[in-house]
Amino acid sequence: MAAMSTPATHFSGDAPVPPDLDIVWAHGAPTQRQDTDPPIQTHWVDASTAVLRQSKAVSAEAPFLYLFLGDDRAILLDTGDAAESERCDVAGAVDGLVVDWQANHPRPGDAPPYELVVAHTHAHHDHIKGDPQFAGRPATTVVGSDLDSVRDFFGFTRWPAEVVTFDLGGRALEITGIPGHHRTSIAVHDPWSGLLVTGDTVYPGRLYVEDMPAFVDSLERLVELSASRRVTAVMGCHLEMSGTSGRDFPFGARYQPDEAPLPMTVDQLVRLRDRARQVADRPGQHRFDDVVIYNGRSTLPMLRLVARGGLATARRRMSSVLPRRRGRS
Ligand SMILES: [Zn+2]
Repeated sequence: MAAMSTPATHFSGDAPVPPDLDIVWAHGAPTQRQDTDPPIQTHWVDASTAVLRQSKAVSAEAPFLYLFLGDDRAILLDTGDAAESERCDVAGAVDGLVVDWQANHPRPGDAPPYELVVAHTHAHHDHIKGDPQFAGRPATTVVGSDLDSVRDFFGFTRWPAEVVTFDLGGRALEITGIPGHHRTSIAVHDPWSGLLVTGDTVYPGRLYVEDMPAFVDSLERLVELSASRRVTAVMGCHLEMSGTSGRDFPFGARYQPDEAPLPMTVDQLVRLRDRARQVADRPGQHRFDDVVIYNGRSTLPMLRLVARGGLATARRRMSSVLPRRRGRS
């Protein structure tokens, strides 16, 4: 009887594999009572790449998380905004995805345990808070979220401009430093799916910039990187723009009907780079069709943003406790 042969790699076909990003993401509900979203939504972009979104009820940030699986290990980018698995079982969702993948991608019987690396697009709380859920998980490495840990783990010797590779087995990711939104920010390019994950640096929403020269430099390098790769989509970790050009949802919104598409194009990335150059010397808020740039920590635009969010939250709370208002005559 012939032994069942296992392919040397599951990643030998033509790449990039066109990603399936045609999905309506869970986007909350007008009132808590009406909310039926699962705490975490999972979506296979291709047979070996998954995107997860934490619900608006768990966190108004509703962050997106990315899971890339290779022959020998998987990497999870970000753990979301909930420390307790009772609130949102991110580790359980990842385990489920890994089990599903393994069912369709057999490994040799003598292969070492399948590893999981938990890393972060950057160290803001809504991207690392779920880390404790992975403590004690077998064959798992949780990369520290401080800059030294990030540089050491991925082997950067020239941070941030160097492009380093991280091999998942048959599938090597490219990683580069993109400070500006946060000093620890990284971008991850996956040649298999063509996705370029940019964290909170590039996404359809409010781009908070703490270091403008670093931000512009990072965008220059992202544009350069994209020019010599087949990038299928630029993928960020939040979604705050509505389907109406130039309109974002209020800060802290728990309900976002008609969201803009999450995937962005390389053309949008190039335009963002040009706009960032233009506004680099002008602190404050700069609104465009597909993003809003917050250059620095100027107080007035931030106050306005929070006040607008507060109003929206107050309205939402009122609508869930007050009887419906009758039409005025
Ligand atoms: Zn952030």
